[in-house]
Amino acid sequence: MTKTEVATAGGEERRCRWCRRALPVRTGRGRPKEFCSQRCRQWDWVSRQRAADLEISDGELIIARRELDELHDQLYMLACAVDDTERDLADTGTRATAKELREMLDWLLDAAKPLREAQISAPSGPS
Ligand SMILES: [Zn+2]
Repeated sequence: MTKTEVATAGGEERRCRWCRRALPVRTGRGRPKEFCSQRCRQWDWVSRQRAADLEISDGELIIARRELDELHDQLYMLACAVDDTERDLADTGTRATAKELREMLDWLLDAAKPLREAQISAPSGPS
């Protein structure tokens, strides 16, 4: 997402209530959008229903362990890539070749990309 795509309303960025991605700038009248997609609207609704069923607060969320594990794995991979890249940059200093910098960047991007597309779905019902 480029800077120009980031929505602002009164200087405040508007974000999807579910996935927290920036919402497009509102044009025209009507209620401002709260979700970036129908899927996010649905997941938010389902998670609120589940919260109500389980009598937990609106601020709490049930999440499938599989999805949390996956997110933690992706965060850990990114953390390792950041550490490696910082170490490599410190080691090479200003002598890093274009090829070396390219390899560092590729490794960092490979680690970051899964998070670029990551989405957390609503919890499924009791089963
Ligand atoms: Zn969304």
